[in-house]
Amino acid sequence: MYGEMDLTERPLVLIWELTQACELACKHCRADAQPRRHPQELSTEEGKALLDDAREFGEGQLVVLSGGDPLARDDVVDLVDYGTDRGLRMTLTPSGTDSITREAVSDLSDAGLRRLALSLDGGDAVAHDSFRGEGGSFEATMEAARAAEDLDVPLQINTTVCAETVDQLPTIRERVAELGAVLWSVFFLVPVGRGRVLTPIPPARAERVMEWLHEVSDEAPFGVKTTEAPHYRRVGMQQREEGGPTRRMGVRAGKGFAFVSHTGEVYPSGFLPKSAGDVRERSVVDIYRDSELFRSLRDDDALSGKCGACEFRGVCGGSRSRAYATTGDPLAADPLCEYEPPGYDGPVPDQHPAD
Ligand code: SF4
Repeated sequence: MYGEMDLTERPLVLIWELTQACELACKHCRADAQPRRHPQELSTEEGKALLDDAREFGEGQLVVLSGGDPLARDDVVDLVDYGTDRGLRMTLTPSGTDSITREAVSDLSDAGLRRLALSLDGGDAVAHDSFRGEGGSFEATMEAARAAEDLDVPLQINTTVCAETVDQLPTIRERVAELGAVLWSVFFLVPVGRGRVLTPIPPARAERVMEWLHEVSDEAPFGVKTTEAPHYRRVGMQQREEGGPTRRMGVRAGKGFAFVSHTGEVYPSGFLPKSAGDVRERSVVDIYRDSELFRSLRDDDALSGKCGACEFRGVCGGSRSRAYATTGDPLAADPLCEYEPPGYDGPVPDQHPAD
């Protein structure tokens, strides 16, 4: 259970990658974004059928429209409107490009958009634009954030943590507060797509960053969550000296999380590109609940290596995406984690050099 939500029945977050088309060429791009739309993308009608299916997960299912740049499609407002009408909570993660104008934010707000998530990977224009490979991206992001505030659309800021950005985190934290964001979502790099050219931070540094994020979360006017770093929960429990087994389930790929690709393949997460089915052939609800891949990822006792031996596996379980990206086995141990379960003397994953 996650709160009142049964994660074997429905995801906390359903992401639909509307397109891989995007004007930017960000260094960390999971989607390996392309300048043009793919001819096999789900059409507007197929997308609406997907949203109809998603209703069967239950009341108020959260749907994130992502990309590429979702605004590279001209039906985004229509899809937000359609999903909202059917009781879905529709949110959007545009790229920081000229497409996210004040007018676009206004149209999305009118269609019922519940949250706008913008990426900020540097605390100023120089750092952010160089990371995202395009001058003007920082200013476009700030303009969209101001529009969201003016239009009362709740704002989320997404940040990638890797060796190239980690020193920017304190400045970005200040920006997140200044922009009035409700949530800071901190993504720990998984080396897939163009992200392979970036450098993950080593486990010891990740541990310090997570400890710091818990301090930020205690003090800041916004919430903090991590992506692909479920050990953030383990770190928090240890800080509060609540170590030991817990009944509360953690959210991770396939367990509270599902991702529909631009061509309709269903993955456990956007960073774990292993298909469990195709929404053109089978409902996303069936795939999430009953596919072998999703079921195995939800089975904490199927984990191997030190994650399988860890007393925190129920609340954490490690990033399945990082395990897959580094070993090819989505049930292997997460190499970003520094923790060694007491008494465990099996193999440990190759870790990055200690800092
Ligand atoms: S060993 Fe695995 S399950 Fe345990 S805290 Fe680390 S990542 Fe999580």
